[in-house]
Amino acid sequence: VDRENIRNFSIIAHIDHGKSTLADRLIEKTGMITQREMQDQVLDKMDLERERGITIKLKAVRLNYKANNGKDYVFNLIDTPGHVDFNYEVSRSLAACEGAILVVDATQGVEAQTLANVYLAIDQDLEIFPVINKVDLPSARPEEVAQEIEDIIGIDASYAPHISAKEGLNIDQVLEGIVERIPAPVGDENKPLKALIFDSYYDPYKGVTCYIRVFDGKIYPGMKIKLMSTGKEFEVTEVGISTSKQIPVDFLSAGEVGYVAASIKNVKEARVGDTITDAYNSTDKPFPGYKKVTSMVYCGIYPAEGEDFNSVRDALEKLQVNDASLVFEPETSQALGFGFRCGFLGLLHMEIIQERLEREFDLNIITTAPSVIYKVHKTDGEIIDIQNPSNLPKPSEIDYIEEPIVSASIMTPSEYVGAIMELCQNKRGTFLNMEYLDQKRVTLKYELPLNEVIYDFFDALKSKTRGYASFDYELKGYNRSELVKLDILINGELVDAFSMIVHEEKAYERGRIIAEKLVDVIPRHQFAIPIQAAIGSKIIARETIRALRKDVLAKCYGGDISRKKKLLEKQKEGKKRMRQIGSVEVPQEAFLSVLKYD
Ligand code: GDP
Ligand code: MG
Repeated sequence: VDRENIRNFSIIAHIDHGKSTLADRLIEKTGMITQREMQDQVLDKMDLERERGITIKLKAVRLNYKANNGKDYVFNLIDTPGHVDFNYEVSRSLAACEGAILVVDATQGVEAQTLANVYLAIDQDLEIFPVINKVDLPSARPEEVAQEIEDIIGIDASYAPHISAKEGLNIDQVLEGIVERIPAPVGDENKPLKALIFDSYYDPYKGVTCYIRVFDGKIYPGMKIKLMSTGKEFEVTEVGISTSKQIPVDFLSAGEVGYVAASIKNVKEARVGDTITDAYNSTDKPFPGYKKVTSMVYCGIYPAEGEDFNSVRDALEKLQVNDASLVFEPETSQALGFGFRCGFLGLLHMEIIQERLEREFDLNIITTAPSVIYKVHKTDGEIIDIQNPSNLPKPSEIDYIEEPIVSASIMTPSEYVGAIMELCQNKRGTFLNMEYLDQKRVTLKYELPLNEVIYDFFDALKSKTRGYASFDYELKGYNRSELVKLDILINGELVDAFSMIVHEEKAYERGRIIAEKLVDVIPRHQFAIPIQAAIGSKIIARETIRALRKDVLAKCYGGDISRKKKLLEKQKEGKKRMRQIGSVEVPQEAFLSVLKYD
């Protein structure tokens, strides 16, 4: 293909504004995939993604388009994940493009992730092509939203097509706009190979397949390539383009997007953001911006049945082959036995992995409370990173502790400002500033401890703003803080899986809430069970699960029978996932319940 006739672009949007639906329409209108072939939303491959309506894995699709000017164009549509946990991957896929279609919902207008994604795109010097979606809805206000785009983002939106991705309205304006608004790639195919990896995944037949954007040179089967971050060399076995399926080609040259396979065994050897070059004739500098992503959130993952340890390890290994940002190492818990400490990019990433373990691998697992990495400054001068609260040194050995802080940006209709400020205050936030985007909309900037963000911040924000506020954050650094280890004792026995590091001022409240929760979720036994929350040897909260009476249903008399029935059913359900702690049976949901506190 002639480089002049290539267009490489992504679609960016706030979640639910219609990115995937528009991608489907573009694919459909260019005839690349027939209606029958096209399962709903081909770009979101995994079931889990489809159910949650999010895109986790990036994919690239090549489309052929004959423009009104009579010329044939090649479009490479690069999909990006839609969650802050995956911002680095988003930045790499944007780096592979010259432009981005910005989809804005005509009923919602500009929201936090609209802006966050626009900034990511502008960082990569992309041309932004705004499109106003969902104009079929009666509450659509496309002119106002166009004005909003101009006011808030500062780009001309007067030519933005007014479309309905769902009904296929004005999609041709988008196709023509891609030709006219998005620049053709530049590059030199006579220079040494320089190609950016913007996605990689494991294929059991071909090994790791990398999605790449070639900036200079050519890549072809049989070529010896080098990955610039590691210096490792491989021989290319296949290059190709992906449409509805992967189609091998003779070569990919400067400006093109496609895939490459080279008998690479693990995605860790071909990380997103790395540069591929010719092993015998290397480009002098790698493509800028490569970084090895680090985990922000950790938790323990334990088999519900002791003998499943090996299955959990196998499953984690299988997931890791495809997910370079998942880390794990074995650990032991007194309460839970042998398991793994796992690290994730964020809470969503953690939930996705937990769900995949349960659904795809059919495992029963117990997860401990998530934790962030604390920097513990010991009295002997050593500084250690702690990801598992149980490993915190004795108080006498600790000089002070630092915790990770994020800078958060919350966009909201102005009527919720009070409620959000109260919430952030409650979460130990530091107010930075407030900016009116227009008469009705405000951006609040806060610094928040990551450890508060991972406890139900999203849920609380959503419920306080009826879903209208949106939220975005990035790690800022570490701050010294008064933190303590909160322990939970069941029947006098410390259950390490419940231990967590919390701010001193929150310890009492958190301890009381957890104790109350546990009283609700742990079934009664033949004996009374004390539940205690403690800091060191100091008990700060105490509840008791009363002993079971002979006739279980006796307690129903005079009470609310249907509620009791529900309770019994719930206990039956939980039965299969019980964990013996001392002489007490603790259901799996108890471990989850400590994560939420409402
Ligand atoms: P994404 O999160 O940006 O990928 O958004 P989706 O493409 O998954 O769309 C989110 C929801 O909006 C889905 O229920 C779509 O059916 C719906 N949607 C997308 N485009 C339109 C549109 O033009 N009109 C209407 N009424 N709904 C739309
Ligand atoms: Mg989507």
